[in-house]
Amino acid sequence: MTAGMWLKHWWLKLMIRSYIPAAIKGLSLTVRRMFQPRDTLSYPEEVHVPRKGYRGEHRLKKDDQGRMKCVACLMCQTACPAECIQIVGAPSPWPDRDKIPVVFNIDMLKCIYCGMCEEACPCDAIELTPTFNKVALTREEKIYDINKLLGR
Ligand code: SF4
Ligand code: SF4
Repeated sequence: MTAGMWLKHWWLKLMIRSYIPAAIKGLSLTVRRMFQPRDTLSYPEEVHVPRKGYRGEHRLKKDDQGRMKCVACLMCQTACPAECIQIVGAPSPWPDRDKIPVVFNIDMLKCIYCGMCEEACPCDAIELTPTFNKVALTREEKIYDINKLLGR
């Protein structure tokens, strides 16, 4: 081995053992990423806007007279795979339906946001909204009752 070849061999060995190529590769990746658009948001200053059709927390809908659309048929409760909907019906004060719910609770911590309740509803009375960031300090606060669901 000539002196020149030995030096080249020694230099290559040093480079590999000192992780210099890996460090340069990592640094170049970092520099490249610095000039690319970010994939993250500085929450809460920057708010994430969910895509169209995102399934977030529920609301109960009202008709054009301001009455709840729900007729307490229990279809959503029956369809719910997480068993997180609890409905108690009572006779309706209005002539266009037999029943209305007097209790309508959804446990948001049990819900898997599958949208089956919305699909099952024959009256278009329940929908999943884009809301995903409502915080709570207790489990009880995440059990939404009829007033909370109607007020959303
Ligand atoms: S989204 Fe799915 S899990 Fe949540 S309440 Fe509706 S049916 Fe149940
Ligand atoms: S929300 Fe719809 S499916 Fe559920 S009880 Fe009311 S009317 Fe029936």
